Amino acid sequence: VIILSIETSCDETACSIIRNGNEILSNVVVSQIESHKRFGGVVPEVASRHHVETITLVIEEALQTAGLSPPDLSAVAVTEGPGLIGALLVGINAAKAFSFAHELPLIPVHHIAGHIYANQLEEDLQFPLVSLIVSGGHTELIYMKDHMSFEVIGETRDDAVGEAYDKVARVIGLPYPGGPHIDRLSKEGEDSFNFPRPYLEPGSYDFSFSGLKSSVINTLHNHRQKGLEVKSADVARSFQESVIDVLTKKTIQAVADYEVENLIIAGGVAANSGLRAQFEILCQEQDIKLSIPALKYCTDNAAMIGAAAYHLYNNKAFGDLDLNGRNYIDIEEYSI
Ligand code: ATP
Ligand code: MG
Ligand code: FE
Repeated sequence: VIILSIETSCDETACSIIRNGNEILSNVVVSQIESHKRFGGVVPEVASRHHVETITLVIEEALQTAGLSPPDLSAVAVTEGPGLIGALLVGINAAKAFSFAHELPLIPVHHIAGHIYANQLEEDLQFPLVSLIVSGGHTELIYMKDHMSFEVIGETRDDAVGEAYDKVARVIGLPYPGGPHIDRLSKEGEDSFNFPRPYLEPGSYDFSFSGLKSSVINTLHNHRQKGLEVKSADVARSFQESVIDVLTKKTIQAVADYEVENLIIAGGVAANSGLRAQFEILCQEQDIKLSIPALKYCTDNAAMIGAAAYHLYNNKAFGDLDLNGRNYIDIEEYSI
């Protein structure tokens, strides 16, 4: 089974060709970060325009690198949502045209399912499992008893963790997207501020990061007002330590409560070195089998969409040419 997959939900125009859900024949990712940087975040209209300019080239390059032509393919997969509607539509229309022209089945993929299945690029998922999704727009704990079966057991009540990273970075004066910069800077600092750890009520798997974010911003303002010197590295480290404490503690608790042996981490923030290291230590101590995607498959890419699409293909979960982009899709309803 050879699937060509397309991802345009945010600010990466991506196309990948993947065999049997884990063998990458090509993986092209064109990032628009440079265009959005000066605005301090993704500007939806700018994103759509870039996708339109790039999508055909990205698809052609993916085919060329793989040394394949359309008749060699089994299906075309595309991110249906969640994401920016104008951005999604560019990928979806390209996928529909490709599917119609070459008579290939069309497979709509949930973006977060894609992030989870990025782990399959390393080795097959083992069930039952708990997955922590930490990305620019999502912070969720999901229980999976089998392939493409999703039960959300906890989620953020306000900001996503990636969003908090990007906002804190902005206040410190770091470029967008701030996550990787905070990660790097935190290595030179100490957890001297001891910011709050938002655990919420006992037993809850939900998250909340807006209070932590405000606490960082207020502390910075107070120090600056008083003319006190603040070491950015210490702020970065203190923020990151709070995030790591909360994410690891809740996730390990969920693994214990749901009596699973397998844990997977997914999404852009799974690239965080501190978070990876802490999960590795805890999982080793507690005999939990941990899986985190390789760095380049943590942030948005199309290979992860192709990895998820493989199981949808096997279940003939195909879409029609009336497929539309959706800025929100409940992942539980998406289960098959
Ligand atoms: P979603 O997947 O929820 O729709 P998205 O696709 O925009 O959102 P991703 O591409 O999964 O998000 O991840 C981007 C986020 O990951 C950004 O917020 C970025 O700052 C964060 N990020 C990337 N690398 C790191 C890192 N090393 N440490 C912390 N955060 C990081
Ligand atoms: Mg992105
Ligand atoms: Fe994403």
